[in-house]
Amino acid sequence: MKDCNRCELKGKQCNDCWFAEAFANLKKDLVKDLVKVVTKLLDSILWVLKKLHIISILVVLVIPMTTQAAQSRHEAIVRRVLRQLPECENSITKVRLLNRQEDFSNRDYYGMDFKLYGQFNFIADEIYIYTKQSPERFKETLVHECGHAVDYATRTDNKLQEKAFGREPFLSVYSRTNSTEDFAETYLFMKNNPRKTIRLARRNKNLKAKFDFITKAIKKCLE
Ligand SMILES: [Zn+2]
Repeated sequence: MKDCNRCELKGKQCNDCWFAEAFANLKKDLVKDLVKVVTKLLDSILWVLKKLHIISILVVLVIPMTTQAAQSRHEAIVRRVLRQLPECENSITKVRLLNRQEDFSNRDYYGMDFKLYGQFNFIADEIYIYTKQSPERFKETLVHECGHAVDYATRTDNKLQEKAFGREPFLSVYSRTNSTEDFAETYLFMKNNPRKTIRLARRNKNLKAKFDFITKAIKKCLE
């Protein structure tokens, strides 16, 4: 028996203090018991799952299911984007979704961190696109690659293209790479910012030349 602080009784406690201490001890015990019960319960659930081979079933079924779901999400984005770009209908034969960097055919890249996010194969007219990027970036990469498709489908004279592109002002850091990337990045900018495109065209003749060039190319694809 402790001395009671509250009522200053020596060698014994008042009833209030005794109850308070007993209740605190009871709470501690209850929490300990609860943790034990939950741990035991989780152990038992795991044991049952293992016995029924459910864990391996989950690994075999659920992982491909989530991969499949991600695949269809990407396919849905591709369909939606292509619906909005009718000019690409005849210049793209296939959009291939790549889950691994190794599946890209060469070291051409989109992005400044030397990772490949998308690629346009102008011999097969196919777009290769990396799936492990945010939906927003996935969409932008796709539109950028569609820009390459429009460029290659309509390019008759490299000199004409190089006269308009690959020169200041650039609308993104990546467009500085070369005139081809400048075309694709400008195409992406025009699709993302139609109003800004009109404003910028009024203010800068080099940009107007790029926008006019792309508008003509789009028209040519739709003929
Ligand atoms: Zn590119």
